[in-house]
Amino acid sequence: MKVLERILVVFPHPDDEAFGTSGFLIKQIQMGSKVTYACATLGEMGRNMGNPFFANRETLPQIRKQELMDACKVIGISDVRLLGMRDKTLEFENRSELADVIESIVKEINPTIVITFYPGHGVHPDHDACGEATIEAISRIPMNERPTVYCKAITRNRVEVLGESDISIDVTDVLDKKIDSIRAHKSQTEGLISQIQDKMHQNHHEVMDWLLKETFYIYKW
Ligand SMILES: [Zn+2]
Repeated sequence: MKVLERILVVFPHPDDEAFGTSGFLIKQIQMGSKVTYACATLGEMGRNMGNPFFANRETLPQIRKQELMDACKVIGISDVRLLGMRDKTLEFENRSELADVIESIVKEINPTIVITFYPGHGVHPDHDACGEATIEAISRIPMNERPTVYCKAITRNRVEVLGESDISIDVTDVLDKKIDSIRAHKSQTEGLISQIQDKMHQNHHEVMDWLLKETFYIYKW
């Protein structure tokens, strides 16, 4: 794997970065890459309030913001941009306004690659809306100046529809840190971490594959 000097990650929720890309980002940052995470919402409509509850509807945004900062610290992301969209309404936001914000960040930092969700292959309307706005933003840049877009596809039918992924990164060597980044989103993942650890002890094939391999599709214009 070669180092990608400047990476921009655009996802809608705090924790999207930890689940799908933290291993890849940790490895890139260890090799000298600089990563910016543009996180569209604070996940303030999340249903999880911790177990036992330690958040309520009023405190959840602040708690999730702190968890996001903690996760980014584990991963090594130094530049976090909170875009301040409202969770669960991203699909209704003016798509081109979100694209404007993303376009300005792309122009400012001139990333080597941009990571987002593959439109139509997220598992939440916010994922797809965020992917679509990111593609729209980059499509405004002349073809020969566009950064490469690495898309996360997390639907069950992704291989059926899109074929095999273009990029597969083995993140075994940074698994402990990756799990720490997932753990940092405590209000959302506390119960999940023990389930993941149980599956790891059982060497559960699907879970180990999901944890150890991070895959991306390169967006084709
Ligand atoms: Zn999400």
